[in-house]
Amino acid sequence: MQTYECDIVIVGAGPAGSVAAKYAAEGGLDVVLLEKRAEIGAPLRCAEGISKKWLSEIGMEPDPKWISAEMDGAIIVSPSGHTFKLDESQAGNEVGYVLERHLFDKALAEQASKAGAKIWLRTAATGVIKEDGLVTGVYANRMGEKIAIRADCVVGADGFESQVGRWAGIDTTLDLTDMCSCLQYRMVNIDVEPNYCEFVLGSAAPGGGYVWIFPKGKGIANVGIGVQGSKCKSGADAKYYLDKFINEDPRLNKGAVLEIVGGAVSTCPGLEETVTDNVVLVGDAARLIDPITGGGICHAARSGMYAGKVLTECAKKGDFSKEALSTYEKMWRDKMEDKLWRNWMAKEKFAALSDEVLDDLVLAIKESDISEVNVYNLLKVIKEKYPDLVAEFEDMI
Ligand SMILES: Cc1cc2nc3c(=O)[nH]c(=O)nc-3n(C[C@H](O)[C@H](O)[C@H](O)COP(=O)(O)OP(=O)(O)OC[C@H]3O[C@@H](n4cnc5c(N)ncnc54)[C@H](O)[C@@H]3O)c2cc1C
Repeated sequence: MQTYECDIVIVGAGPAGSVAAKYAAEGGLDVVLLEKRAEIGAPLRCAEGISKKWLSEIGMEPDPKWISAEMDGAIIVSPSGHTFKLDESQAGNEVGYVLERHLFDKALAEQASKAGAKIWLRTAATGVIKEDGLVTGVYANRMGEKIAIRADCVVGADGFESQVGRWAGIDTTLDLTDMCSCLQYRMVNIDVEPNYCEFVLGSAAPGGGYVWIFPKGKGIANVGIGVQGSKCKSGADAKYYLDKFINEDPRLNKGAVLEIVGGAVSTCPGLEETVTDNVVLVGDAARLIDPITGGGICHAARSGMYAGKVLTECAKKGDFSKEALSTYEKMWRDKMEDKLWRNWMAKEKFAALSDEVLDDLVLAIKESDISEVNVYNLLKVIKEKYPDLVAEFEDMI
């Protein structure tokens, strides 16, 4: 078997992997970024909605090349159809752009390459190399050829289905109540507001999920659904609920589907452990998706940046032990953990609410003088109207 040596091998060239690769390479490390697919960012597995604020943090300037549409705000729809429209100043924390995700991911990978990282497509990691119980690299299949890639540290950026963590002995198991099964159609010839992301709550998407309509220009949108895993009794529940929603909506039911996207998101508060000796998990592999919104691109990119910076420091000391890498864990926990926990607890409560209570909540939010809509502010309004609902985590609101 051919052997290759580098400082850092990163498994997965999604946002987490590419940003980690960029920062580690900028730190002077010899980085190899592996991607099992033949093209970065394709096929699509995303609704493509992001907020704007965090992009500059990871050194990205907005670029029309990867922005499909800029949003003016968001529309929240209650189960019985009450709508609540938020303009951008109110909704700015949760919506901003609808991406051309395949181009966005390529732009991130391009930055990694500019910084000096090597990118190997059609190269799937198949296991970790272990010597004396320590991870010392990965085995991979590179276009049919088996290779061993030795590295000081392995970064698991391999997304929701991550295997790197499990191979390295990290517990990555997910409860069915802590995941959502998702299905999305790229629809054309529909009649939705072209500059508002729409979120439909309630039993249309059982178990605390929602239906989304994210426009990509006039008459075209990503229309999708997330259904909690424990509510899925067969393999096709998300399809059943999405088709039902579309058939009953006169704006959508005459449209056509040009693309079908399936996938899953975690809705837990992050893994208990995201580092071990010589191994770091980032992005979806570390389960850093927001448990309420299902959005994970920002957290993936941010965790990748933290990992890349910490790896640079570890390399200076020649120490990639769990203890040395725990600086990465501290960085993402300081920035994200409270929010992930709060939103996880809120999700647990919302998943059990009836359509009537959700209707009431949407009306209460509509009547409030909320200045910016984010999960935190919404919970504050809910705390006033339904204090019992948030009693278990009221100190976080
Ligand atoms: C239907 C759906 C809609 C979503 N909508 C949104 C949204 O609107 N906004 C938002 O912010 N988030 C959304 N998300 C979540 C978002 O897509 C993820 O949080 C984000 O992609 C995480 O980035 P990542 O780099 O951690 O993982 P990924 O983007 O999943 O990248 C992982 C990469 O690793 C590669 N890989 C996996 N295993 C191996 C291996 N063994 N060897 C080599 N390569 C490997 C994969 O091919 C993939 O390219 C959505 C998710 C789904 C499923």
